[in-house]
Amino acid sequence: MKEVILIRYGEIFLKGKNYSFFENTLFKNIKRRLKEINLKLEKISGRFLISEFCEHDKEIIISKLKTVFGIVSISLAYEVETSLENISNICKIININKPTFKVETKRADKSFNLKSYELSAKMGELILKNNPNSKVDVHSPEQIIYIEVRQNFRTYIYYDKILCLGGMPVSTSGKAMLLLSGGIDSSVAGFLMAKRGLSLNAIHFYSFPYTSPQAKQKVIDLANIIKKYTGDIRLFIVPFTRIQEEIHKNCDSEYMITLVRRFMMQIAEKVAIQNNCSALITGENLAQVASQTVESITVTNQMSKILPIFRPLISFDKIEISNIAEKIGTYETSILPYEDCCSVFLPENPVTHPKIEKIIKNESLLDIEELINDAIKNIEIINIKN
Ligand code: ATP
Ligand code: MG
Repeated sequence: MKEVILIRYGEIFLKGKNYSFFENTLFKNIKRRLKEINLKLEKISGRFLISEFCEHDKEIIISKLKTVFGIVSISLAYEVETSLENISNICKIININKPTFKVETKRADKSFNLKSYELSAKMGELILKNNPNSKVDVHSPEQIIYIEVRQNFRTYIYYDKILCLGGMPVSTSGKAMLLLSGGIDSSVAGFLMAKRGLSLNAIHFYSFPYTSPQAKQKVIDLANIIKKYTGDIRLFIVPFTRIQEEIHKNCDSEYMITLVRRFMMQIAEKVAIQNNCSALITGENLAQVASQTVESITVTNQMSKILPIFRPLISFDKIEISNIAEKIGTYETSILPYEDCCSVFLPENPVTHPKIEKIIKNESLLDIEELINDAIKNIEIINIKN
């Protein structure tokens, strides 16, 4: 008998011809995530299996698997060479601490001489003998003991399924550029899109000396937190001071944020395309602030000419976003009080219903192309690696 970890993946079954691409990518992602731990990872039909690990690494392996998108659930299981005696020996040591249970058998190896329901009944009896306080309930048991008799003469017995993140393996949907601020929303947005199989680059706009070095460090820290889910992130830090000063000096103050956000979107799209990203991601959320009304989103949306903009949080309440931030570990960092560049030269009354004619008039006062090229030329790149 040995202890192993069974890994289940769900949705990637649906992908027909591309099945092996999704399966192989998930396998590689898991391997990379566990690379510092001594263990054996293998494919067994429709599952992965981890074995040959030290008892004291078990918890850390499980906690790492819980960060890998594409895994639906895992189980700690006993593995035995298939025989009635070996299976019985495991069932004899099972402790049930729920009032009801049942045994569920899957028999892929049809050469095993008991049918599924016969093995379930036999093992149920055995378990009941050692757990007289529990009862068998085949309709709605509180505990299920699973027995899987596989074709390779191995049988797995387990009784707990640990739910994992689900989603698609990172990078099976390609790569996208996340507009990453120090706030609560954008790192959650990146997490959610990585869940659908995107790997991430990130871009951050900062306005030194109006924003402090801590504000920039906060963004680096956030990228370092989400990388355990998203994999490595290439972070582009864009100096934004000159653009903000130029807008402040030349344009209507109530249009400050609108113009700033249009610049951000243009630069983000350019850098994204240069780096083979096929979409942009923001943490925008309808009606949260002046720059997130339908009209404001419309006039920033227009600035990404080719790439789609994904806004996974568009309909979320702040409390829902904060709950996810807490779960993934970004919340405490996000609420540190360092100013974002959006708060530099913040007007008292930012427009909530910007007019395109006014925007065009304001933008005609700026040398947009020169400002954008200058900002891109001075980008600093930080590789956030696992
Ligand atoms: P967050 O909590 O993500 O900062 P927010 O509620 O503060 O969001 P905004 O400041 O309007 O909202 O920003 C909306 C989105 O624009 C952010 O979620 C992020 O994707 C992007 N963004 C804002 N500021 C920056 C920045 N300095 N650098 C990169 N992207 C930014
Ligand atoms: Mg923000």
